[in-house]
Amino acid sequence: AQSQARPILVATPNAASKSRFIEALEVERALHAALERQEFFLVYQPQMDLRTGTIVGVESLLRWRHPTWGLVPPTRFITQLESLGLISAVGQWVLEEACRQSRRWEQAGLNLRVGINLSPRQFLEPDLFARIQQAIRTSGASPARIELEITESLAMQDPANAIALLGRLREAGIKIAIDDFGIGHSSLEYLLRFPIDAIKIDRAFVSNITCVQADRVIVRAVTAIGQTMGLSVIAEGVETLRQCDFVDALGVSEIQGYLIGKPMEPERIESLLETFVRPGSATHEHVDRST
Ligand code: C2E
Ligand code: MG
Ligand code: MG
Ligand code: MG
Repeated sequence: AQSQARPILVATPNAASKSRFIEALEVERALHAALERQEFFLVYQPQMDLRTGTIVGVESLLRWRHPTWGLVPPTRFITQLESLGLISAVGQWVLEEACRQSRRWEQAGLNLRVGINLSPRQFLEPDLFARIQQAIRTSGASPARIELEITESLAMQDPANAIALLGRLREAGIKIAIDDFGIGHSSLEYLLRFPIDAIKIDRAFVSNITCVQADRVIVRAVTAIGQTMGLSVIAEGVETLRQCDFVDALGVSEIQGYLIGKPMEPERIESLLETFVRPGSATHEHVDRST
């Protein structure tokens, strides 16, 4: 007779889900050690202002390099960090590291805004404001160069509380962006009361923008709202020049995506800034042909 000591395994009889379960357990164990073993690091993805054609900001993105599995994508471990209760420690490390990097760039004379993603759990922590203040203070970063990214579903969980917290953060000079805009189910009326600086339109609306009219209508509407409210509107996931032209024509103010650059190590951001030429401009095409 089989032992019932591991009921979850018994409840998932097929081999695939069994190995997925074991894998999840291994990931769990490894995540507990990852912070101490310094296996996390941040990469930065450039954001281009469409009016000036210059890089005006970067988004910090968390990476985990496991000694034997190699690079694990955040989609595979962020939710685990949340459910393991580890997100607050890792999130604090992200805040501090991104603030330190912002300070380094400021000292190097570079004018860059640094975006930092906040997870739903982090956002619900009662001492979040103090933690952010601490990261800024100990790093010496300028609050105005820091932009916190929160998702709309996150902000909508407890709108009154979110409005109060975001208000305090903005009073401290920190910028706020609503991330993945358009894929949640929030009340527009509420969202418009949020004290924010920027809206990031989710990649889902950008990827088919050249062929799906509904996506263009949505992007145009969001852009119009953003302009009326004095917000920056950033299109995420712009991969081609045609997508860039479309979002530009619809009034988007900044783009982020593989067309401008993939997430990269901070040193590579610095060399990108030195050589960057707006994609599609005559100089850029010349450079492309000659290399
Ligand atoms: P996000 O905040 O919406 O970040 C944008 C994601 O889109 C990044 O994926 C980026 O690499 C990807 N991306 C950017 N441009 C393109 C493009 O042109 N094409 C395609 N196909 N993808 C593009 P990444 O780095 O895998 O991160 C995934 C998500 O994980 C992030 O979505 C964010 O929700 C979460 N995440 C990443 N870093 C952190 C972090 O430090 N803290 C928290 N709480 N969440 C994070
Ligand atoms: Mg983000
Ligand atoms: Mg996003
Ligand atoms: Mg997204």
